[in-house]
Amino acid sequence: MFRIGLGIDSHRIAEGGPMKIGGFDIPCELHLVGHSDADVLLHAITDAVLGAAGLEDIGQLFPDTAAENRNRDSGEMLKLAWQAVEKAGFQLVNLDCVLRLERPKISPHKAAIRRKVAELLSVDESQISLKGKTGESIGDIGHGRLVEAHCVALLSKNQ
Ligand SMILES: [Zn+2]
Repeated sequence: MFRIGLGIDSHRIAEGGPMKIGGFDIPCELHLVGHSDADVLLHAITDAVLGAAGLEDIGQLFPDTAAENRNRDSGEMLKLAWQAVEKAGFQLVNLDCVLRLERPKISPHKAAIRRKVAELLSVDESQISLKGKTGESIGDIGHGRLVEAHCVALLSKNQ
């Protein structure tokens, strides 16, 4: 049996680096703002795998009203969510992710981000795909005010 899931997240950009994306600190003069560590890619991945497994979403599992989730490591949240997905009997086939942002450029850090995500899920890097897209100088993404991450996850379950 195969199950597909979609996760989308966005965070506002502010001055002062580094920018944490996919559990990796990109050296630059910008960072993302949020209640947790604002790791936009890991939040989209977490929702995609939870959605594919038919479990509660990241906001229900880790509410931003809870004090313990303030500045929380999103890698830790993804690991906990992934444990629940595996406990429900699922394995990862693959993740396909798109980051929409004006800067920093993602391509020089793509391999390191994929490696980090693969490590968090204990899967092979070949199962993680990542693409960077700009906003064509239009809207909040194009003007460098927002970063958006999209992720589709395919899971399989032995019956
Ligand atoms: Zn988020």
